[in-house]
Amino acid sequence: MNLYAEHKKFSLDSINERVIHCSLCPRLANYITYVGKTKAKRFKDQNYWAKPLPSFGDVNAKLLIIGLAPAAHGGNRTGRLFTGDSSGDWIAKALFETGFANIPTSNSKNDGLILKDVYISTAVRCAPPNNTPISSELSSCSQYLLSELLILDRTIKVILTLGRIAFETYCRIMDLQRLHFGHNASYDIGDGKILLASYHPSRQNTNTGKLTWQMWIDIFRTARSMMYNI
Ligand code: SF4
Repeated sequence: MNLYAEHKKFSLDSINERVIHCSLCPRLANYITYVGKTKAKRFKDQNYWAKPLPSFGDVNAKLLIIGLAPAAHGGNRTGRLFTGDSSGDWIAKALFETGFANIPTSNSKNDGLILKDVYISTAVRCAPPNNTPISSELSSCSQYLLSELLILDRTIKVILTLGRIAFETYCRIMDLQRLHFGHNASYDIGDGKILLASYHPSRQNTNTGKLTWQMWIDIFRTARSMMYNI
């Protein structure tokens, strides 16, 4: 069976099921367990998810968002990517304002958020220490993103990567060479698809003004117009 056929045999649900039970990266498995037990003071009364995070969204999406990794006290706590932290706040508000989401917030798995035309994934599915996965972890986790890309291939028009690591991970998986990361950089990668890059909406970028709200919302407007103009 070739690689394409091997990955195509999975459904998005079955990939998520495999992800949730994955323990390929001992450093990350130990870390998320540790964070789930020690908790942040402000969340001490909550039960942390403390497992790898599934992707989520519209299975017929035209836009695929690829983030870096779950946040230790965000997704790793709530059990859904970009949920319960400031990056999630920025994503949910932008998705709502550009018609991709029914509510402008992302606080918990049961908050009623429904995504339309967008699917959200990440380069690695376990929260890494200091938000920094090592190369072997990126490499191990790529299998899940590749499987998702092959399944979503028939509908996806725009791939929006958040931050340099997500951009470079996507390029490596798809064997795209000589493409350079930059905020708002876009590339026609063939097959009716565009690769669009953005700074990650981490506090490090949003608190310093490296990524302003205007820059951020413009990325989503650009993504939406690209979806219908290729
Ligand atoms: S980062 Fe990915 S490959 Fe590593 S343990 Fe988590 S889910 Fe598995």
